[in-house]
Amino acid sequence: MSTNQSSRRKFIRNISLGFGATALSPALSSFAFRSSSPEKKLGIALVGLGSYSTYELAPSFQFTKNCYLAGIVTGTPSKEKIWREKYNIPQKNIYNYQNFDSIADNPDIDIIYVVLPVFLHKEYTIRAAKAGKHVICEKPMSLTVADCEEMIAACKKSNRLLSIGYRLHFEPYTMEMMRLGQHKLFGKVLNIDCANGFVWGGDPNAWRLKKALAGGGGLMDMGVYTIQGARYVTGEEPIYVTAREEKTKPDLFKEVDETVFYQLEFPGGAVANGKSSYNANWNDLKVKAESGWFELTEAYRYNGMKGATSNGPMTFDPNVHQQALQMDDFANCVVQNKISRIPGEEGLKDMKVVEAIYRSIASGKKERI
Ligand code: NAD
Repeated sequence: MSTNQSSRRKFIRNISLGFGATALSPALSSFAFRSSSPEKKLGIALVGLGSYSTYELAPSFQFTKNCYLAGIVTGTPSKEKIWREKYNIPQKNIYNYQNFDSIADNPDIDIIYVVLPVFLHKEYTIRAAKAGKHVICEKPMSLTVADCEEMIAACKKSNRLLSIGYRLHFEPYTMEMMRLGQHKLFGKVLNIDCANGFVWGGDPNAWRLKKALAGGGGLMDMGVYTIQGARYVTGEEPIYVTAREEKTKPDLFKEVDETVFYQLEFPGGAVANGKSSYNANWNDLKVKAESGWFELTEAYRYNGMKGATSNGPMTFDPNVHQQALQMDDFANCVVQNKISRIPGEEGLKDMKVVEAIYRSIASGKKERI
């Protein structure tokens, strides 16, 4: 690495993030200006090389402009060779869970992307921040609201940026739903129907079916997208929730929820009827407003999004590289010392709703969020 690159990396590591502040110091603002299309890409290390890292995140680096796959963290030695060769990753940028903290000394790694089972999100986010790295953490953010708060506090304390892997915030159909809803382009939003689920055909011993490792079932994994949907269409935080659970395969879903139905009440009067499932194929986000409707009938996918309004079909590119756009945006936020549009607080807000849904299922009553 040239001295120039190395000092730039050190500079990025050392900048104080000044959370909440929009004004940049003169030195930083000139740097940020030059780097709005960075001439040097930031290095990302993926932690956890399971299916999302393997089939979505790693391949998406061929489309990134502001960042590249610089390193990996894996507990499976056989994966090291495969990834080293496939992605040309130098041995010095390959870590395991034992030597992970020494990543602090590696200037090639600017950002750590936590792609582990949910119960490990908090630990690795906090360790990454303590190692001086900026962090992207996958959804759902963690097991509890208290965990999410700890993660946010740890990143603040280390002056590092934290973002959640909500890729849809960079997807044009989703962005259109946000625009139509938040700007009330069809009048006030009255009703939202949002559903996400698939029929579990996988390993009955998978971590996703264990409460201690996943925090919950279909709601934690698929339902967060519907909660996001209701929140980003209204641009509001729900106040009350009423929820119930249905279980048709109690042996398979011994520890976690199979199908959850919930109703959210928003301060502006909108009501969202959501459902999540590990036993039904659902994927939509439908909105009725005062003077029309808008909907996605493929609403949360990696590609192949589909949508329409009461004025006609939506005609955006349904196959943008969501993960590439998401990671590029975060790299740009790091360079520009700017809070991401999907900061830790977004994950925290969703977890508040998730916890209230579980409370309502347990109590059988309407719960305040
Ligand atoms: P996965 O089971 O395929 O991979 C998990 C990885 O973690 C594996 O490589 C496994 O070896 C590793 N691991 C390390 N320690 C482990 C432990 N103690 N127990 C079990 N596994 C351990 O899971 P995935 O589908 O890649 O999901 C990982 C994360 O990414 C989850 O939080 C998930 O919700 C999220 N995800 C997000 C999206 C998205 O669209 N944003 C899509 C899929 C998954």
